[in-house]
Amino acid sequence: MCAYQAYCGADPVRNYLESSNIIHNMNGTQFCDKNKYIFDYLYALMLTEACNCLCLICPQPPKKHDPVLYSAALKVLDLIKNKDIENICITSGEPTVIDGFSHILGRCNVEHPDANVSILTNAKRFTNIDFTKKDCRCINKKKLFCISIHSDIYSTHDKIVASRGSLKSAQSGIYNLAKYNADIEIRHVITRLNYNRLHEFAEHMYRYFPFCAHYVFMSIGLHELADKNRDMVYIDPYEYKDMLRKAVISMRVKGFLVSIYNTSSLPST
Ligand code: SF4
Repeated sequence: MCAYQAYCGADPVRNYLESSNIIHNMNGTQFCDKNKYIFDYLYALMLTEACNCLCLICPQPPKKHDPVLYSAALKVLDLIKNKDIENICITSGEPTVIDGFSHILGRCNVEHPDANVSILTNAKRFTNIDFTKKDCRCINKKKLFCISIHSDIYSTHDKIVASRGSLKSAQSGIYNLAKYNADIEIRHVITRLNYNRLHEFAEHMYRYFPFCAHYVFMSIGLHELADKNRDMVYIDPYEYKDMLRKAVISMRVKGFLVSIYNTSSLPST
């Protein structure tokens, strides 16, 4: 049996489109090869399931912090110490809400200085300049803070993450990270609540956040809360393809590095 079979059902929409079967075993396909590569070369450190947001599109709804996850992350770092690791992803919930975040990031930096480390965060805690300074004082250019920003409008972003004041905090967090030369990736998940301002969002990035290393537009994966809130948040990429094209082109001509992730439609019923 394939050691990666547990992950074969990880993209039910694509599975259905390719094989009319939600739990399709994709052994031997390009998708399978890509995932095997990712699992061979990427170490994911899941620090906690706790979070300071409750996004309508969350694929993994927040839970009370379980210290076992943090201990397991430390154990993984022990096991890969002195090994040549290419990629590490610090993920969660929201990794910065637990006290051990700085320790884990510091260990990644010292023990794997050449590894690409992605930190998936909503950036709210980086609004505290002392917290940011502590985490950024010794990071190198291989550390990338991947930050979700869902709108240029406060009320829209805050509605999507179900937490008032979140966009203000996230934006101030991004500026603090930039002050300490952190590399930043902006992730914009396209939903029914924000799809009609893609061009305005692109302009907002140009005016206020032109210093980021990478900008990503993503469509929704319908898992957990995103699935529960499907009527409110889901939109078929076909509906916004022209607006997305315009937004991406406007960023590209300004010299931004832009990517589009996960743009498959749901199968029609
Ligand atoms: S998607 Fe939102 S609620 Fe879920 S972990 Fe990320 S920031 Fe927290």
